[in-house]
Order: sequence, then C-alpha cells, then structure tokens
Amino acid sequence: MAKQEDTFKKVISHAKEYGYIFGSSEIYDGLSAVYDYGQNGAELKKNIREYWWKSMVQMHQNIVGLDASIFMHPTTWKASGHVDAFNDPLIDNKDSKKRYRADVLVEDFREKINQKIEKDITKAKKRFGDDFNEEEFRSTNQNVLRRQAEIDKITAELTRVQEENDLAGFKQLIEDLGIGCPESGSKNWTEVRQFNLMFGTKLGASAETATDLYLRPETAQGIFVNFLNVQKTGRMKVPFGIAQTGKAFRNEIVARQFIFRMREFEQMEMQFFVRPGEEMKSYEYWKETRLKWHLSLGLGNENYRFHDHDKLAHYANAAADIEFNFPFGFKELEGIHSRTDFDLKAHEEFSGKKLRYFDNEINESYTPYVVETSVGLDRMFLAVFSKSLKEETLEDESTRVVLKLPAVLAPTKAAIFPLVKKDGLPELAKEIVNDLKFDFNVLYDEKDAVGKRYRRQDANGTPFCITVDHESLETKTVTIRDRDTMEQQRVAIADLKQILDQKTSFKSWLAKL
Ligand code: ATP
Repeated sequence: MAKQEDTFKKVISHAKEYGYIFGSSEIYDGLSAVYDYGQNGAELKKNIREYWWKSMVQMHQNIVGLDASIFMHPTTWKASGHVDAFNDPLIDNKDSKKRYRADVLVEDFREKINQKIEKDITKAKKRFGDDFNEEEFRSTNQNVLRRQAEIDKITAELTRVQEENDLAGFKQLIEDLGIGCPESGSKNWTEVRQFNLMFGTKLGASAETATDLYLRPETAQGIFVNFLNVQKTGRMKVPFGIAQTGKAFRNEIVARQFIFRMREFEQMEMQFFVRPGEEMKSYEYWKETRLKWHLSLGLGNENYRFHDHDKLAHYANAAADIEFNFPFGFKELEGIHSRTDFDLKAHEEFSGKKLRYFDNEINESYTPYVVETSVGLDRMFLAVFSKSLKEETLEDESTRVVLKLPAVLAPTKAAIFPLVKKDGLPELAKEIVNDLKFDFNVLYDEKDAVGKRYRRQDANGTPFCITVDHESLETKTVTIRDRDTMEQQRVAIADLKQILDQKTSFKSWLAKL
C-alpha cells in the first residue's frame, strides 16, 4: 500500500512540475477537487479527446456528433430520474469528522480481500511456473475459496441494501465488516444518509422570477432531448449513434483522488440507438469495441478488466465497467450501459412530445433502445499519465524519469536541438521547426548539454528528439532519438515528416484499431 501511495504522489508531483495539472486557484490555496490543466495537460487532454472523437465519429458512418449546452430545462432532470434518484449514500465518522461514501467503504474493503486472492495467485504462479493452472487453483485452493465466499456474501448484502434503499442495513453492514475510518481507524459512525449530487444554480435577474437550474451531471441527456433533431436533419437510420464530449458536474461526497473524482469533469459519451430486442447484441459489440480502443494505447492489457454491475441503475438492463489499474488499484474508467428505452420514454412522457422512430424496413414505429458508452476524459488522462510515468535504471546504473506517453497523445511530438549554439546549427534546426510546425507540435531547445535536453524531453513525454550536428550541414541528415528505446538513427531531413507522421499521427494509430 505504501508503495502505491508513493507512486501516486510521484504522479501528482510530476504532473505539476511538468505543466500538466495544477490545483485550481492555487494562489488562494486551491479549491477542493477542482483542477486546471497546464500547457502540456491541455494538449494531452485535447489529444485524448480527439483520439476518442475520431475513433467514434469519423470512423463510423452511422455516428454523428453533438455539442449540447450545460444548462438544460429543469424538467429534463425530473424525467431522467436525477432529481429523485441521483444520490450517493454518505456516512460520517464521528471522531475523525471525515465523510465517506458508504458504498465505497464497502467496495474498498471487498477489494482488499480480492487483492489477497491475487497475491496468493501470483505466489502460486511463481512456485509452479508453467504447470500452474489458475482456474484450477481458484476452484480448489481453500484460502481462495474462503475469501471468494466472503466477497460474494458482501456483494449480495451490498446489492440488497442499495436496491432496497435500506440505510440502516447499510450501516449494519459497515459495522458487521468492522470497517474503520481509513484515516483514523475509528469505528464510531453516524447513520447513512442519501445525498443528491446535482449542483443547483439560478437563471434570471431577480430572486422572485429566477428559475432553478442544475449544472448537468452527465452529458447523455443533451443527446436524448436532441434525438429527433439529429435523426431527422441527419436522415439517420437506426442503428445509429450520437457522440458528445463536454463538462459535467457532480457534488461528489468524497473527492480525494486527484483527477480521478472531481466535482467538475469532462465526459466523452456516445448513445447508440437500436431496435428494441437488439440491445444486447449492440451492448456486447460496444463492450468489445471500447476495450479494443483502450488496449490500442499500449499501456498493458493486464491493466484492464471488465466488471459487471451488481446493482443496475434504474434505467439499465445490463451494465459493465471497464476498470483500469490506477495507482490506487482497479477502479472504473468507463461505463457501458444498456439503458433500454427508459430515457426517451421518460422525456416523451414529461414533455408530451413524441420521440419515436419510424423504421421503414419493418414498417413499424417504436421508441429505440439505447446502449451508452461513457468514459471520463480526466480519468482517461490519469490512466494514461500514471501508467506512462516510469523510473528506469540504465546500463550505466544512472536513472532516468521518463513519461512514456503513447506517441499519438503526446503534447509535443518532437524536440529539435542544435548540437551547439554556433556554426549555423541553430539556423538549420529552426528551419526544421518551421517546416514541421504546420503538421506537428514541435519545440526548439538549445539550452544545456544535449544529454540534459534529452532527459528533459523524456520527463516531458516527448517521443522524439531530433539533433542537428555538423554533419547535418553537409549531408542534410539529422539524428532522431526514440524516447523509449533511446536509440538514435541518422535520417534525411527530407524524411522527417513522413517518419513523424507514421509514428505519431491519428491516422496511423486509428488504422491499427
Ligand atoms: P463512480 O462509480 O466512480 O462514481 P459512476 O458510475 O457514477 O462513477 P458514470 O455515471 O457511469 O460514473 O459516468 C461515466 C464516466 O464518467 C465514469 O466511468 C468516469 O470515467 C467518469 N466520471 C464519473 N464521475 C466522475 C468524477 N466525479 N470525476 C471524474 N470522472 C468521473
């Protein structure tokens, strides 16, 4: 655990030191769980968004985009169920005065048991080598079986108290498991209460006439209320999807994990409209397609897993999370939800407007079913950033800090250095910058020895460093150094564009999807 915390601290301080993420309004001592993206962070975030957008919209003929407002008519949130049911169960510790989400306390407790199982498996794997059969081990080892039974019992009770909204039962569960306050260890808990996560605000000039509004807690509803606008004007035929990225706001009870859980964050959502009865096929398709997208970034297949929801939301008939191995363990990165016709039907009912689709292939009118893919952009950022940050010991025993960001997402694609600040080398290096800048984010650096400049770009996440030396003047060639392998190659200046394009462009990464 100490090692995990240590890694996480390093991630946070590196993000700050290299201009990726700053605390919001720091000069006023910051605002809890609100963050600003710095010069590099803004680029990385933009690139993640674009990689998602292109893979969803540009790569699919039947998916189009939308950019709906953050403010929506307040009835939207009545219809969607958010006013009545967008709650989290909160519990306070009377001694430490710390507030927690009751479900998260139980889930974290359960995950600790799971980690013990994983540890046993890793040990056994080492001991038995190639002969190890994980499935058999899981189904016969007494320790694993006992722990798994414990997990199943906790899951069943957690699901029950949530489904029945049994708040007294919730507290009992926490007490029965002997869960203490993660900060102080105290088991002196208050009752569990429900807490609505939506931020309220007002629209209008005077107090008497102002309307109560909410800041949207998800981008999805903007898609549902525009469903027919897009379908009609885009002449879309079911099955089709609408994608959107944008800010969402949730008054999270506990937001202590850096950009994992923020009060203002950005979502990348796609709602896919299908014929009733075809939703499970589509649900499976999108689970697989979205996982592929994540894996394409090369952060390690072992860092992803599916987790089927134990408790389904009021609108869903199937739901799974893609979980990622964050510095603090496996947690939700993306949700894939089969939302049935709940939202469109609810908006029909509350607005009195028809939101149906006439399917001329089967000569029938119906309310489409919806499969949603919803990923947090900030969480994606944390996943990418935390897994890319490495400390390596090199052959000469020295160490280097390197941010091995997938090249397609890296804020700067290449740094161009003159070997020395004279003999016409800076002029040629600047010429290269001026030529490449139309296609790539590149930077020029002439300060310090080249080795130091390499290290600076390693820590910055820049995948390529291009060095102009004396030979460059004669042969019109430069060296290009790969951040990850640290290998250098001499290439023609005329080929740089093509090399960078092949290694860093959306086009070549999308083609591999
Ligand atoms: P959690 O269980 O972690 O609270 P959720 O199930 O409420 O998440 P969804 O409503 O399914 O999340 O939202 C879709 C995605 O939006 C999540 O998978 C996550 O990546 C992102 N997300 C949700 N809440 C936050 C938040 N407070 N900060 C950052 N990202 C968030």
